[in-house]
Amino acid sequence: MVDNSLSPHGGVLIERVAPWDAAAAGGRRCLAHLPRIAVRDQIARECVNLAYGFFSPLEGFMGRADLDSVARQMTLDSGYVWSIPIVLDLADAEVAQLGLKPGDTVLLTYQEQPLATLEVTEIYSYDKEFLARQVYGTTEEAHPGALRTYGYQDKFVAGPVTLINPPRINPPFDRFWQTPRQLRQILADRGWNRVVAHQTRNVPHAGHEWLMKGAWLAAAADGVLVSAVIGEKKPGDYIDEAIVLTHDLLREAGFFRQETHLTSTLMWDMRYAGPREAVFHALVRKNLGCTHHMFGRDHAGVGSYYDTYAAHRVFEDLPDLGIKSVLTLEWWYCPVCGGVAYEGLCGHREQKQDLAGTLIRRIIQGGAEPAPTTLRAEVLEVVRECADKYGFGSPFVADTYLENRTPVMSMPALDCACTCSDP
Ligand SMILES: [Zn+2]
Repeated sequence: MVDNSLSPHGGVLIERVAPWDAAAAGGRRCLAHLPRIAVRDQIARECVNLAYGFFSPLEGFMGRADLDSVARQMTLDSGYVWSIPIVLDLADAEVAQLGLKPGDTVLLTYQEQPLATLEVTEIYSYDKEFLARQVYGTTEEAHPGALRTYGYQDKFVAGPVTLINPPRINPPFDRFWQTPRQLRQILADRGWNRVVAHQTRNVPHAGHEWLMKGAWLAAAADGVLVSAVIGEKKPGDYIDEAIVLTHDLLREAGFFRQETHLTSTLMWDMRYAGPREAVFHALVRKNLGCTHHMFGRDHAGVGSYYDTYAAHRVFEDLPDLGIKSVLTLEWWYCPVCGGVAYEGLCGHREQKQDLAGTLIRRIIQGGAEPAPTTLRAEVLEVVRECADKYGFGSPFVADTYLENRTPVMSMPALDCACTCSDP
């Protein structure tokens, strides 16, 4: 039993992992006889997350009662707060072809290998436009979350998931990926009773570094857990390798003491749901063993769909979430203060220089000098190494990277040829 005072969401850490062993399968039916659904990257990542308890108390893909409750009131049918739909979609044609019905067990495959089994409890349709409006506050396709919702196929297939073939996490991510149980153990071993999570998809500039340091102070935390979101990439994003390795560098180079900082990854495809995504991020990090979660400006927002601090306000109505939000304003460079300054303290708003992405990109592209008040030279060096080693010459995602990168997770070969006497 891990000695961590913070309970997972719902009270119990879900773990549904049962590596398949054909020889020991005994009376279990051979995998070869099960109907198969080949899942895409997003669904594969969500299967892994469900099985290891990142999404506790969810045990599988949502049924209608849960989905409807999440859409309407941001809770599961059981009453636990939950903000983002976790669903498995399937085309009518495929449902018909497989003859799929409640009670069936399905084999989910990924990269042409068995991944997980799904015990089908329900097959249903749901109004996607309603879902988009409720979850994202808009029905516009310009919103990536709404667009993803419209992209779901005709039916949702619900039921608990069991991981039967745990994927291999490839370097350099293997050092930074832990299951919630493993991570909770690490935090307990370190004696971290108060842990503040930092959600990121960025290479850390001075503003991010101070955001973490400020949150550490504000939460009176033992440690900062960087939880880098690794998922679907679009051109122009930082490559995943640069994100994790630069964050780890902040610790390695002593900008955080070894004992105060840890970098981890979360495989997740951003929904950009603003306040609802902030709640989701808080719940997942609660499951990882964090007691606090920092939220800055426009957390998980996109375009101008959400108010700048909508993700701060949402927590006012959720006092019993079981993880506390640390709400932060911006850090910027102030020439009068003579360094990186906090919006809540610096009185020279007119002279501030924003640590904007465009400035950081200019530094990375060689158009400006790095500095501890913008982007650290040490961070820049790792960014350049990652560009050479992983990015095909660039730290930013380009088509070459998307086509040729080593995937974050690979499926081991699992022989599920029939060895039984069933027809
Ligand atoms: Zn100032």
